[in-house]
Amino acid sequence: MKISEIFFSLQGEGLEIGLPTVFVRLFACDLRCAWCDTLYAVEGRDFKDYTIVEVIREVEKYECKRVCITGGEPLIQIKEVEELARDLISNDHSILLETSGHKMPPPILWTENSTISMDCKCPSSKMQHRMDFDLFKRLREKDQLKFVIQDEADYEYALGILNRHDIKANIIFQPANGTRLGWITEKVIYNKLENVRVLPQLHKIIWGDKRGV
Ligand code: SF4
Repeated sequence: MKISEIFFSLQGEGLEIGLPTVFVRLFACDLRCAWCDTLYAVEGRDFKDYTIVEVIREVEKYECKRVCITGGEPLIQIKEVEELARDLISNDHSILLETSGHKMPPPILWTENSTISMDCKCPSSKMQHRMDFDLFKRLREKDQLKFVIQDEADYEYALGILNRHDIKANIIFQPANGTRLGWITEKVIYNKLENVRVLPQLHKIIWGDKRGV
């Protein structure tokens, strides 16, 4: 499978924010979000080919049971993700899959030891037309649906999605630059959005726009 990087750091986003985690970043993505911050895992040839066994060996080096499969868009390599997730789970790892809302995760990622973190791309990404809203409705109570919000139009778009669809998953509003939280927080409080969590990208607060963290 095509791997961009494997590293050990803190989870920077979502409900597991701050927890030590091994990241397996898969190469390639079929979207082109205007503000993509991992283009090195989307374009070019900056990847290595790994077997599943080699990925597991690399993950095991860090002696951490929490694994985040991310990208790029991991589900471009869906067969490999399925096999990797199965082997990791059978070795007692828990999985967090980070994916955009346009591809159905395989069955192994809907099981007990796996959580899905799905992005809803808002208008500033210029990829909102690629989203599959039916996937959002399938997310479970333990999963998360994340809106990356850059401006007022994105905020209003997110509210519209939440009003129109019955979504059970945890809802996260994350600023597009990862750190400019103030205006989103004020709007969420003003609109009394009781079920929305406003979260930063913790790794950007700690390390800025650095790779491999
Ligand atoms: S889906 Fe993620 S990796 Fe793909 S272009 Fe958008 S931000 Fe980048």
